[in-house]
Amino acid sequence: MASKEGWLEEEDVDDDDDVCLGDDDAWEEEDVPAQPARCLFCREEKPSAEEIFSHCVLHHSFDIHQMSHDWSLDCFGYIKMINYIRAKILKI
Ligand SMILES: [Zn+2]
Repeated sequence: MASKEGWLEEEDVDDDDDVCLGDDDAWEEEDVPAQPARCLFCREEKPSAEEIFSHCVLHHSFDIHQMSHDWSLDCFGYIKMINYIRAKILKI
């Protein structure tokens, strides 16, 4: 009646795959003036990026928030996507 327990038990698996730290509301409390932004697809300019994102949804059926959610983009992926679109549009 030998017991073989005790040496295989401790396994601490931390399944935390948070990549993007941008979900904090603390970001919005900083006193940063809104930067003017230009549409990715046309020459429209708006006083803030959020207004441009709304413009993109209305005029180009492009919802960047939905896309980054659908593709599970982290901060880096998000920036890469915007740079990619800009590069593609410039070549048209
Ligand atoms: Zn536009």
